[in-house]
Amino acid sequence: MTHRVAIVGAGPSGFYAADGLLRGRPDLRIDIIDRLPTPFGLVRAGVAPDHQGTKAVVRQFDKLLAQPDLRFAGNIEIGRDLSWDELVAAYDAVIVATGMVIDRKLGIPGEELPHVWGSWRFVAWLNGHPDFRGGPDLSSVKSVAVIGNGNVALDVARLLAKSPDEMAKSDIVAEAGAAIAAAPLTDIHVIGRRGAEHASFTNNELAEMGRLSRAVSVADPSVLEAVAPATDPTPEKLRKTKNIETLKGFAAHQAGEKPVTVHFRFHAAPTAIHPGEVELSTGTIAADMVVTCIGYSGEDFPKSEGVFAVGWARRGPSGTIPTNRADSHAVAKDVLAWLEDRDPKSGPDILPLAVDADGWHRIDKAEIAAGAAQGRPRVKFADWQALLDIAQGD
Ligand code: NAP
Repeated sequence: MTHRVAIVGAGPSGFYAADGLLRGRPDLRIDIIDRLPTPFGLVRAGVAPDHQGTKAVVRQFDKLLAQPDLRFAGNIEIGRDLSWDELVAAYDAVIVATGMVIDRKLGIPGEELPHVWGSWRFVAWLNGHPDFRGGPDLSSVKSVAVIGNGNVALDVARLLAKSPDEMAKSDIVAEAGAAIAAAPLTDIHVIGRRGAEHASFTNNELAEMGRLSRAVSVADPSVLEAVAPATDPTPEKLRKTKNIETLKGFAAHQAGEKPVTVHFRFHAAPTAIHPGEVELSTGTIAADMVVTCIGYSGEDFPKSEGVFAVGWARRGPSGTIPTNRADSHAVAKDVLAWLEDRDPKSGPDILPLAVDADGWHRIDKAEIAAGAAQGRPRVKFADWQALLDIAQGD
């Protein structure tokens, strides 16, 4: 008899936790449980559909799915099909890898207006998440306010700014790609409440904003005075200094040089949202749509003995995929140490009938085949029933 570990959440943190566990204990039996019939969490639903290089990380996870004692159990919701108590009672350890997918709120008047979208809801729509089928009406959207100065804000601005040609090799859902292509967009405002020296953009993602075919990026003159804080640790100082250089380059561009202008605005705290405009501490700007990219919160889970959290569920919504690899591997060591002193539990297998790895591979194959016909990496199936039908077919 061997120990059994349940990992709740089949995103990168969950898979890296499985990887860390199997490196130390190849004999373990691991179940990776997800609410969706598809694995890979934010890599599938959150990473921007034009960043296929980042999405390629799933090949590592697919190799783990081929391990004989690792089961994928999709379409299982904790609270509906199984309770946390049942999990904790049946497994020797439970790892919570549920991430954070609730859009944080600005807490300003007008935030509930229908033209205001949280970045999770918006990006999940572009990425074909089956819970987010209805997108915004972009047919008369000329100006968009993207609030926040992190990589998610850059993802949102870039995906709106890119031309259909630039999106041709992405796996954006067709409906979203067509809506963006047809929108009369001319201006995208990326709004930071603090200065450029506090933006959390990473260098490559910001630099990419200077290489868009139908959009020019411009920055407000405050970037000319910006300096990375001397108190920051060296890697942070280097990142910020490089970003400031990039933004100074943007400051030399003219708005309107290309059909779409991306305006980087700093020291501009949003104070209220109205139909068609956003009030900032620096003045009012026109915005037919607002996308808030200001971070996420998560759902609660039991913090009892034998329950470990990884990734965003543990640390909060920060860090890239490599950050989560290191984090999950460290937690996996703690789990192995915890198991060392305990006899394996001997109860029955409680996992309900689920979409297993074969079911997921049927979805995967069908999506890739549909994409091949269009020269795309895949065409995602975004309808719950269609996903289940394919997964449960032969
Ligand atoms: P983030 O980097 O924490 O950025 C959140 C932004 O929201 C910050 O600029 C923050 O400003 C701003 N903000 C928070 N509350 C605000 C408010 N009330 N009003 C105005 N602005 C507000 O988070 P993220 O962009 O959501 O990204 C999450 C993590 O995923 C990050 O670690 C990111 O690097 C990673 N990610 C990586 C990639 C990639 O590698 N390509 C892509 C997407 C995401 P303050 O600094 O002033 O608080």
